[in-house]
Amino acid sequence: MSAPTSAVSAETLAEAAAEHEPVFSLALTQDQRDIRDWVHGFAADVMRPAAHDWDEREETPWPIIQEAAKIGLYGFEGMAQFFSDPSGLGLPVVNEELFWGDAGIGMSIMGTGLAVAAIFGQGSGEQIGEWIPRCYGTVDEVKVAAFCASEPNAGSDVSGVRTTARFDEATNEWVINGQKAWATNGGISDVHVVIASVDRELGSKGHAAFVIPMSEAKGISQGSKVSKHGLRASHTADVFLDDCRVPAGYVLGGKEKLDERLARVREGKKSGSQAAMQTFESSRPTVGAQALGIARAAYEYALEYAKEREQFGRKIIENQSIAFTLARMKLEIDAARLLVWRASWMGRNQVPFENAEGSMSKLKAGEVAVWATERAIQILGGNGYTREFPVERWHRDAKIYDIFEGTAEIQQLVIARAISGMHIK
Ligand SMILES: Cc1cc2nc3c(=O)[nH]c(=O)nc-3n(C[C@H](O)[C@H](O)[C@H](O)COP(=O)(O)OP(=O)(O)OC[C@H]3O[C@@H](n4cnc5c(N)ncnc54)[C@H](O)[C@@H]3O)c2cc1C
Repeated sequence: MSAPTSAVSAETLAEAAAEHEPVFSLALTQDQRDIRDWVHGFAADVMRPAAHDWDEREETPWPIIQEAAKIGLYGFEGMAQFFSDPSGLGLPVVNEELFWGDAGIGMSIMGTGLAVAAIFGQGSGEQIGEWIPRCYGTVDEVKVAAFCASEPNAGSDVSGVRTTARFDEATNEWVINGQKAWATNGGISDVHVVIASVDRELGSKGHAAFVIPMSEAKGISQGSKVSKHGLRASHTADVFLDDCRVPAGYVLGGKEKLDERLARVREGKKSGSQAAMQTFESSRPTVGAQALGIARAAYEYALEYAKEREQFGRKIIENQSIAFTLARMKLEIDAARLLVWRASWMGRNQVPFENAEGSMSKLKAGEVAVWATERAIQILGGNGYTREFPVERWHRDAKIYDIFEGTAEIQQLVIARAISGMHIK
């Protein structure tokens, strides 16, 4: 079948085009380009030169977070501005540039975002106003925040959460007990958002999210800090909750709403999505954008190297195997970006992820980052394998994108369930 023809003149088409705004565009606006270039400048001038050092030190780069806060890149206002972009592209564009600069430092700057997403997604207006600014602190006293869902025996299977929250009517407080594992910024944050079970019999439907400020609550402490393969400038640790008490109003969404939701679940009615899942769904495209930043860094570095390095009397890029690998790297990165941008646009405009488009974007970008950084090592040969060159660090950093916020297997499970409508195991 051929496209329908009509007698519409070129003039009519031109008039129609002039009357209407384009309904589809992948071109960034001037504002978006300005923000991208500004973040890129910070990534290139401040993060890149410091990346190797902080990776070796395995410490949170507080001076760089502070630097980011000073220029408005880290903080409540900045994040609100990036998030409020109606196209949804603000956050992915910023994340891609930051993680191009360095993933470990990038995670120290962006790790707070997961706790913020939980508060924004599940908190009341009053809670959003109170807790989100506290997650970031001030320019003079920067803070980070932590989102604590995982436990030693509950990673992919969030329903296995053993941390409990019991309501003490006598004191009007929640009493929280348990152990959280692998929490980014765990124990070094003021605000911790903790997923706990209020009613174990209801499985993950009996979970709720609690805000626990380290500066106020007793019974919350940092467990061991985890020594990692990559992302080493980002702090990861266990968090212990030992008869930790917080006021009734520290459950996100409020106690009244929680009681109503639990009553609906007990009656077998619909209850909306689970506390941890809600946060992960909204943040997956942003996490995909982080992986993209690492992949792009490796691709650009390998491309320049291949154009310089000579063997057998010619540049190594003159060999098809090298040139084709670089062509595929560029192709895969651009393909992943399209998925990330689509999911970001959908998320921002509340278009339902009917085919798990958020998971698709994170899965693809994570796999591309791992593959592209490994290929970059290959293109650099022996140099690629040494710590004198950044590509081995990028490869170590990239691997986490197959694992956290839902492993590659779990993303496939989510997509498979969404497209089939069946409970694939
Ligand atoms: C650096 C880092 C930072 C992190 N930050 C945070 C954080 O801030 N907050 C937080 O709550 N958590 C965080 N995590 C935890 C992270 O989300 C979990 O590690 C992740 O969800 C996987 O859980 P797991 O490690 O228990 O693996 P497991 O669930 O034990 O999985 C092990 C393997 O089995 C596979 N598998 C499991 N179930 C299935 C299935 N049904 N079908 C097919 N394959 C399956 C998995 O895909 C994986 O390959 C972080 C982890 C790391 C390493």
